Amino acid sequence: MQQGMIFKYKKISGQFIHTLCDGDLLYRLGLIPNQVVGKALHEFLPTESAMEKTKYYQRAWEGEELVTYESMINGIFYLAALRPIKHSGEVVEVIGSCVDITERKKAEKALRESEYKYRLIAENMTDSIMLFDINGHVLYASPSNEKVIGLSQKDVVINKIIDRVHPEDVPLLLAKFNQIVKTKSSLQMEFRFLHANGYWILMECVGTLVIGKNGETEHIIIVGRDITEKRKAEEQLSKSEKLTVVGELAAGVAHEIRNPLTSIRGLIQLLQQGIIKQEFFEVIHDEFNRLEDIIKEFLNLAKPKEIQIKKSNLEKILKDVEILMESEANMKNVRIFSQIEPDIPMIYCDINQIKQVLVNLIKNSIEAIPSGGYVNIQAVKEKSNVLIKIIDNGVGINEERLKKLGEPFFSNKEKGTGLGLMLCFKIISLHKGSITFISENNKGTTVEIRLPLS
Ligand code: ADP
Ligand code: MG
Repeated sequence: MQQGMIFKYKKISGQFIHTLCDGDLLYRLGLIPNQVVGKALHEFLPTESAMEKTKYYQRAWEGEELVTYESMINGIFYLAALRPIKHSGEVVEVIGSCVDITERKKAEKALRESEYKYRLIAENMTDSIMLFDINGHVLYASPSNEKVIGLSQKDVVINKIIDRVHPEDVPLLLAKFNQIVKTKSSLQMEFRFLHANGYWILMECVGTLVIGKNGETEHIIIVGRDITEKRKAEEQLSKSEKLTVVGELAAGVAHEIRNPLTSIRGLIQLLQQGIIKQEFFEVIHDEFNRLEDIIKEFLNLAKPKEIQIKKSNLEKILKDVEILMESEANMKNVRIFSQIEPDIPMIYCDINQIKQVLVNLIKNSIEAIPSGGYVNIQAVKEKSNVLIKIIDNGVGINEERLKKLGEPFFSNKEKGTGLGLMLCFKIISLHKGSITFISENNKGTTVEIRLPLS
């Protein structure tokens, strides 16, 4: 009546004949004692299975003390252990005892399958996956690392990894790492990494802690990808958007240049006719200065430049942009005027990028004014920011559209790109500032840009 199964066999005229077999397991295998007792293996098992078991039977019969094997009959797995019984040194009989291991087999199979599934995912991800213990030792590195960073799995060792991070990025990376451990949260990090083939790639990684049962950190998983190409494409996009703006402004600038040129030509004609007055020269001089300013600003906007954050004079930036935009505004019958608080503090920024934002915003304002209006540029100091406002009395933006501002290709203009604002948002967030739109249909729009003082 036992849970498992017990059997005995002897060798009789060259064949292993069972002399006993019983136990719960026997019935579960779909057999009864009569089918086994007095029979050889091949009489109740398929040939192949009988032949395999005969080998084990033989070993026990030859005196080997513990022969074990696993088998399956009728979908039930069992483990058998054979023990020889000896009389004066000679084996006279073998006892086999079997236990049901189906559950264990099932669990093993499920584990294997799920392990296989996760391995399949890990091994086939194009992202790089690394698993570290809390001492920073690498426990696992996915094969994709070979492609992403050029290191094979066995080459992924913590020292090699850190050594390949750009020296300027190491402190930030370590700080992020500590922060992950301290706050037990996931964090994103971006750093330059020296690919094994000798070139720099830009990596974007997410680090996550794996917390064990007792609440302690067990592992850190880092999943990362090479975003060099993506970043390049973004930069390309920003460049092409800039060129679009430059192209569109060109008409206005050309128009604006014509005015001083016309007055200079007129004065020169007067001079030719012998009418010479001192103030002619002053006017010519002023007009030349204005020409120079416009052209200088225009070229500044068009020229590609390295990003350079430095302490900058906001008042000058705003004035420069005003000069540049005046031509466009004049053509559209829009008056631009600025109100800048005296002693507005210096800010840390990339001058050209901030100019680009202002040009984009003022251009949008001008374009939103169908027939005459104004664009007012204000700048005031707040507690820890400077606040720049671009106010227009244009068509405004309805609530629904307001929510979508900053999404690329969201434009309601025939030739619009919808990239201008996306770029503005990006640049301002890079400056750790904020940008807000307040607008009412047919009343106008106010854009508020806040840039931190420190
Ligand atoms: P584009 O100017 O090429 O259309 P932008 O990203 O600069 O792209 O602007 C996106 C959209 O936001 C514009 O098409 C317009 O509908 C709206 N918009 C932006 N600024 C203003 C504004 N000052 N007044 C009215 N609508 C605006
Ligand atoms: Mg625009």
